[in-house]
Amino acid sequence: MTTNQSPVWHPFTQHGLGDLIPLISRAKDARLYDANGQSWIDAISSWWVTTHGHAHPRIMAAIRAQTEKLDQLIFAGWTHEPAETLAAELVRITPAPLTRVFFSDSGSTSVEVALKMALGYWFNIGEPRSRILVLEHSYHGDTIGTMSVGERGVYNRAWQPLLFDVGTIPFPYEGLEQATLDALEAACAQKPAAFIVEPLILGAGGMLIYPAWVLAEMRAICARHNVLFIADEVMTGWGRTGTRFACDQAGVIPDIVCLSKGLTGGSLPLAVTLCIEPIYEAHFSTDRAKTFYHSSSYTANPIACAAANANLEIWHDEPVQQRIDALADAQAAHLSLLSHDPRAQNPRRLGTIAALDIVVPDSGYLSNLAPRLIAFYRDRGVLLRPLGNTLYVMPPYCITADELAQVWDAVSTSLDAVRDPA
Ligand SMILES: *Cc1c(COP(=O)(O)O)cnc(C)c1O
Repeated sequence: MTTNQSPVWHPFTQHGLGDLIPLISRAKDARLYDANGQSWIDAISSWWVTTHGHAHPRIMAAIRAQTEKLDQLIFAGWTHEPAETLAAELVRITPAPLTRVFFSDSGSTSVEVALKMALGYWFNIGEPRSRILVLEHSYHGDTIGTMSVGERGVYNRAWQPLLFDVGTIPFPYEGLEQATLDALEAACAQKPAAFIVEPLILGAGGMLIYPAWVLAEMRAICARHNVLFIADEVMTGWGRTGTRFACDQAGVIPDIVCLSKGLTGGSLPLAVTLCIEPIYEAHFSTDRAKTFYHSSSYTANPIACAAANANLEIWHDEPVQQRIDALADAQAAHLSLLSHDPRAQNPRRLGTIAALDIVVPDSGYLSNLAPRLIAFYRDRGVLLRPLGNTLYVMPPYCITADELAQVWDAVSTSLDAVRDPA
């Protein structure tokens, strides 16, 4: 464990509360280990990135092999084999209209690129548009642009003056779906540039699930009004929701798709933004002013691309879908044991993701519930990180039945601890 003596300033961490910070020295499959051999089950896939498991041998081998060849290359006007292979493969496994692949290095950046592509498209075809429509409770990242298209709250209060104005469509809660569709229809009539959504499940917003038919309807409305449809699959991609991409379940083909997190199996930072040909065409010109002016230093880093290629090979060669289906069934079984439990509300599941809302005695209790629970689970060998009173389990697909049982056992014990605070 480290303490406040360390110069490291951690993300989303209130150092003033003095919480202990485990020092991890290695990881394998679904487990994290410290130097003393103590271990934790990584029940949130190290913040939603680790898909197959930590240190998957094929991904590690691909990284090692690539380090012997090419470490980094300027990507403006130059290219390399790992990026070419990856782009071709991504185009092959996604729906045919998605033809172009723009590389970056984080989920937030892939969303920034999506927004810039959308506005660039309208600008370059001579019909400038700049308004973005978003879904209530969304999360798309922590940069100024992605905070602008995400939920406003305590997490971004200090920066509100810098955030740009967006049109917010109400979340399609059960029974209120038509209100969402009507609001989107009305907002689309105002000729916004794009509508951005997390397909089927809003992650950071509290694992809020909505049905595939609503996603399909939202996409159809955008198509009818000629509004670009951006799917942020940064969290949902790579099997989390039960299919490779969440949009697959709704038969939805977006105009722009953002992928990151599980793109490298969760091993190295990499992101892509895929788009349809007309968006690329709007930037394709002999006029330099129409260039897509965006780059990060590490765009399409060869080692990260090699890790992503290994991830795609694993999807191709290994029974990944069977592992996902088995994990989804196991999650359903554990969740069903809590289905009539008065300590848990709204038990819900989409693919491998299971969530519930913890019933708290009073609102004062809620404010420090998540940090207390994080410590509670940590002391029991489990890495879980509730969002407010929403507890969710999102493990790597390799988690064993015993490990998963241990996670849910910790969850059940914690519900008692909330009810009867010592
Ligand atoms: C995590 C996440 C992002 C941001 O990705 P980073 O790699 O953390 O920048 C964007 N959108 C969604 C839906 C996410 O879950």
